Amino acid sequence: MTKILIIYTGGTIGMVNNPLTGTLMPFDFEQIKNNVPEMARLNYHFEVYSFDPILDSSNMHPDTWVKLARIIESNYDHFDGFVILHGSDTMAYTASALSFMLENLGKPVVLTGSQLPIGEIRTDAKENFITALEIAATKKHGKAMVPEVCIYFDYQLFRGNRAIKYNAENFEAFRTPNYHKLAVAGVHLTFFKNYISQVPAGPLKVHADFNANIGVLKMYPGISISAVQAVTRSSVDAIILETFGAGNTNTEPWFIETLQEAINAGKILVDISQCQVGSVELGKYETSKMLQQMGVVSGYDMTFEAAVTKLMYVMGLGMSVEETSKLMSQSLRGELSA
Ligand code: ASP
Repeated sequence: MTKILIIYTGGTIGMVNNPLTGTLMPFDFEQIKNNVPEMARLNYHFEVYSFDPILDSSNMHPDTWVKLARIIESNYDHFDGFVILHGSDTMAYTASALSFMLENLGKPVVLTGSQLPIGEIRTDAKENFITALEIAATKKHGKAMVPEVCIYFDYQLFRGNRAIKYNAENFEAFRTPNYHKLAVAGVHLTFFKNYISQVPAGPLKVHADFNANIGVLKMYPGISISAVQAVTRSSVDAIILETFGAGNTNTEPWFIETLQEAINAGKILVDISQCQVGSVELGKYETSKMLQQMGVVSGYDMTFEAAVTKLMYVMGLGMSVEETSKLMSQSLRGELSA
């Protein structure tokens, strides 16, 4: 019988209304189970690992990602797939982080959640949960159909490190701006095999060291020297530049000098675009040529979520600036197209 491990971390899916405060608060897995009697009709063996305390995903942390990766590692041989119930707010970060941590993943790790709690009449939670379980159980020729960390939400399956939460209200909360969907659910579950990774040959290898000492500098017209230096002169080891269009910044001498100073101090600067669709193309415009010359690394078409978690992961490997920079602009888990 197919075995699925459900890991319940929290999120709206399992929340109930707190009558005292009027806010939504996380609640235990039992009430999720009670609301999905259909689980009994799926012919799988389920086990549940429930976080304690249960989290709103805004409280996720690299330590939580490590905890999740360790749970998957220690149960890897006993289960065919994993479904992680998780708040949607930071789901794309957790999915991205896990994709980097779980090298040679050969089984599905499907994250899902919902916009409405499972106890609400109009909830989207049941469909998300049940189909996520089916995806985690799907095999072809005895091998997992989707041996990837992915997000299932509103009838669509996304590569985890390509997904973004873009809508705080609609049931269609996620999108994958620069990559094809991995599957869609309608009358049939249709998998887009050309976009899904193959089951790898080697054994699972878990990387659990993150260096979260990174900063983010988002460009906007009129950015001041003090705003820039607050990041570049801080003690962070690496900085994500969120730039305009195809990777462009202003070219005022003070700005270029300030970035150069950060690079000279050994900081790694990674350029990703504020645009959700398309890629950084360093050197295409004069306004990115100097970045390229000074050694700013292209993050190509990575999502912000993938860039943040990849940078923490790669920095945690403890490599030289050159090697770290090289890894940042290469696809490690299908997170970018260079
Ligand atoms: N605040 C919730 C969370 O991320 C939102 C959700 O689950 O959709 O935990």
